[in-house]
Amino acid sequence: MSELIFDNGQFARQQRVLAGKLALSDLPRVAGELLDGSAVEYALVGSTDRLQRLALDLRLTAHFQLKCQRCLSAMPFELDVAARFALFSDEDRLNAAEAEEEELEGLMFEREFALLDLIEDEILLALPYSPTHDECESETEGAVEADVSPQKPNPFAVLADFKAKLKRGDN
Ligand SMILES: [Zn+2]
Repeated sequence: MSELIFDNGQFARQQRVLAGKLALSDLPRVAGELLDGSAVEYALVGSTDRLQRLALDLRLTAHFQLKCQRCLSAMPFELDVAARFALFSDEDRLNAAEAEEEELEGLMFEREFALLDLIEDEILLALPYSPTHDECESETEGAVEADVSPQKPNPFAVLADFKAKLKRGDN
């Protein structure tokens, strides 16, 4: 994970690109909020913003299963985060800029910037506070099962048929 700690000012200045996948086991704060989920694909691109400030563009995508707060069963959630962070050398200027520009997200220049922490923070911000299905499965379960189950072949019947074919020497 050492490649995920770097000088963020140098990264932006050199317009570097870093992309990869993180397992949920690398993101314990996020994993604690999920029933299950895919790896998180990330891409970080060094750039400059419209005011010529050094900046970092972060993109995160993943498929998660959240826990519905009403029925406690799985609820699919597509994570898709795209954020730009302008870099600042002192906290006062960062705060002043954030107060002035509503959309702005800022970060401090750091020689040992930890991308993993930022990724976890951004994912946690993107998750719904109290996820619930529009319509919980338990309310419609009866109807869904009645539609599906008669079409399922009985595995034992399939096996019996297969054995009968073998005996007859069809195959
Ligand atoms: Zn539900």
